[in-house]
Amino acid sequence: MSAVAPLASPVSPASPALACHVHKFGGSSLADAAHIDRLAALVPADARLRPVVVSAMAGTTNALVALGDAAAAGEDWKPGWDALRQRHLETADAFEPEAGGPLHVALEAEFAALARDLRDHASGVDPHAHDARLARIHGCGEQLSSRLVQAALGPDWRRLDAREVLVVHAAEMGAVVDWDASRARLASWRLAHGARDVVITGFVARDADGHDTTLGRNGSDYSAAIFAQLFDADALTIWTDVDGVLSADPRLVPDAVCLASMSYAEACELAYFGADVLHPQTLAPVQARGTPVRIRNSRNPAAPGTLIAMDTAPAASPVKGLSLVRDVAVLELVGNGLVGVPGMAERMFAALHGAGVSVTMISQGSSEHSICCVVRAGQATRGHDAITAAFADAIAEGQAQGVAVTRDLCVLAAVGDGMVGTQGVAARLLDGLAQARVNIRAIAQGASERNISVAIAQEDATRALRAAHAAFWLSPQTVSVGVIGPGNVGRALLTQLAEVIPALRARAGVDLRLRAVASSRRMHLSDAALDPEAAGALLDDEADACDLDAFAAHVRADHLPHAMIVDCSASDAVAARYADWLAAGIHVVTPNKHAGSGDWQRYARIAEARASGHSRFLYEATVGAGLPVIVTLRNLLDTGDTLHAIDGMLSGTLAWLFNSFDGSRPFSELVREARALGYTEPDPRDDLSGLDVARKLVILAREAGRPLSLADVDVESLVPEALREVPLDVFLARLSELDAPMQARLDAARADGCGLRHIARLGAGSDASVGVRALPADHACMHTRLTDNLVQFTTARYAENPLVVQGPGAGPQVTAAGVFGDVLAIAHALGARTGWRHA
Ligand code: ADP
Ligand code: ASP
Ligand code: MG
Repeated sequence: MSAVAPLASPVSPASPALACHVHKFGGSSLADAAHIDRLAALVPADARLRPVVVSAMAGTTNALVALGDAAAAGEDWKPGWDALRQRHLETADAFEPEAGGPLHVALEAEFAALARDLRDHASGVDPHAHDARLARIHGCGEQLSSRLVQAALGPDWRRLDAREVLVVHAAEMGAVVDWDASRARLASWRLAHGARDVVITGFVARDADGHDTTLGRNGSDYSAAIFAQLFDADALTIWTDVDGVLSADPRLVPDAVCLASMSYAEACELAYFGADVLHPQTLAPVQARGTPVRIRNSRNPAAPGTLIAMDTAPAASPVKGLSLVRDVAVLELVGNGLVGVPGMAERMFAALHGAGVSVTMISQGSSEHSICCVVRAGQATRGHDAITAAFADAIAEGQAQGVAVTRDLCVLAAVGDGMVGTQGVAARLLDGLAQARVNIRAIAQGASERNISVAIAQEDATRALRAAHAAFWLSPQTVSVGVIGPGNVGRALLTQLAEVIPALRARAGVDLRLRAVASSRRMHLSDAALDPEAAGALLDDEADACDLDAFAAHVRADHLPHAMIVDCSASDAVAARYADWLAAGIHVVTPNKHAGSGDWQRYARIAEARASGHSRFLYEATVGAGLPVIVTLRNLLDTGDTLHAIDGMLSGTLAWLFNSFDGSRPFSELVREARALGYTEPDPRDDLSGLDVARKLVILAREAGRPLSLADVDVESLVPEALREVPLDVFLARLSELDAPMQARLDAARADGCGLRHIARLGAGSDASVGVRALPADHACMHTRLTDNLVQFTTARYAENPLVVQGPGAGPQVTAAGVFGDVLAIAHALGARTGWRHA
């Protein structure tokens, strides 16, 4: 058994531990001179022999394919050829500054040969040489890059043109290596050139007749594995631009995680089902020898990468990865007469095989009423015709109805050795897809149980992949969060989130991801989770204009299981969106009183939307800030108690004013002081009008099931009629006009042994009022401090001695804490998942 490749260390061991360690660099690791220059540091001196297999510089093969197509179509290929030449010569300048050096000369010779091939290709010279010429055009990038890499690695390195060694022949599943011939040629090559470190061209080969060919797109991974086998390597490292094999394509699933290890079979299955990171044929040659393969990131060599080997450590999840095969179609042979007839499947697949159609997935109902299989879209018609012909007699006799073709599909595959003997894997996959409302056209589980595949509509592909990924990799309590209105409360909430989110994730599995913030004018949307503390600063002039539809669509991300919008604005326009958001399945949390106390019809729509979207709407902080007022009322009612009355002090500002107003200072002076302390709104009339308190009373009344609206509340305004419409400065200048009437009320109350408090009251039915009341000294409201709120619930159970909730009921910190409490109540209720059960 071979040793496992150690992580590349920049320090060379004194004597190499391995006989041979093959490295492969993909195009992404050869993007420019700076990248190529870094290769030497990535190839440690841990082995006596270090064959380095290279792909073409990033984008080169695509450009060459386009050049070949252009030439064949009689189009002008010269500008493209020139651009490619320019790019390679400029890259060479970094390694050979003097013009006319051997590197530049060699590259120019390659470009001259390429130009010749393109010219011949355009004129169709020697059609028999067509395929080999095209292979030469496509494979030219590796000739170029290998020269650049050789120059970067230094004069001790030889260059091996794989076409001189590698002999392959084409087969249905791709190129097959002629091992004996290839071994013999490598032996002669080494005899001629010595056993030295070599740079090898990936992707290219020749057939037994000496015609140039390639191993297919992305084939240099396969080249590397073949050379690992030919050199009897102890280790193969494939360098790319991601940290290893990820749980899904990171371009489609932003949350994909890097896998520490996987078996050859798992890697093979993932590659076959479309994971670009590895060519599907790569694993066969290394698996034969048990050579460990490590996938690593040349841009982040500190990352350990993914180890692919025979036996790997068991993983937490039975599913290792998810991938997609696009552009497939389902062929379905339907027929009642097929039930119980032996050999139906055999006949169908023989027909497909005969027509050269390869089958990606097969599924058959146990009733045998229909047999369906998934084939590549380009082969669907051919497959349809072949099956139709094979069953012509059955169709003519009415035993079979015919062959149905469903196009525009893709296959999503979940892969992992651990599925064997783990219960509930398919259930979780299907449940995740169902939650994302993805319709499944066909489903198959391989007999190996290493793979469960489903065919779905192509347009659902990304959404399905993300939903399936969330089902296996994310905590079910993962919530995509958007915060609107970072004013005082919003900012305090963001700070509290920043402090608590890491501990919540670690301790409770609650994964709150702040992915969007907005003010009334600006918004910032992010795929990655934002640092809540820094998020407010993102709403500067550079930020996008606020668009609440785009905001909500972003928060409701397909790849995260849940979504929540926290509205910390005081905007009626934002409240007008709640119903739509809730219906779309977005939870809403807010300290904004507009929805709870606004138009009754809108309130009713919100209740309906909440039910249809299975979403929750919590607004504890609208009354008493962080105090548990609404939840207490809810609990009383939910446990069957009957509400008789609610009364209390619902405004911190007015509480402070009447706690302080003892006649020693005029009322207006206290209003000015409260304003200076920030206890009042900028315009104190907003507090003195009693309207804000009335809104809170409406919210409580509705919570108790009473269809109350603001107009139904008898509100006493403390602002004299004459001052209600005047500008703020005029109001402030004439504030002392409040003093005499208020002093008179205090004197009258005192004469009766009472004091003054600002009280909201909900009695029976629609009896609801807000205003200043004279209360006896033993009333609970006479024993409050500073900005304390106090709510008294008189119920059937709490009849003699009401239930009282009391404490500070204003201020950004406690209000934000009330909002946060609602956020957590929702997250906790999402419910944790139980672990995997093994059979
Ligand atoms: P190279 O040029 O190094 O051969 P490729 O572009 O061929 O690189 O393959 C690496 C890319 O494969 C990654 O950048 C990533 O976008 C894509 N990819 C798709 N599926 C996966 C997966 N499951 N794990 C890692 N990468 C993947
Ligand atoms: N350069 C070839 C391609 O782009 C081979 C490879 O990159 O693996 O397909
Ligand atoms: Mg590749």
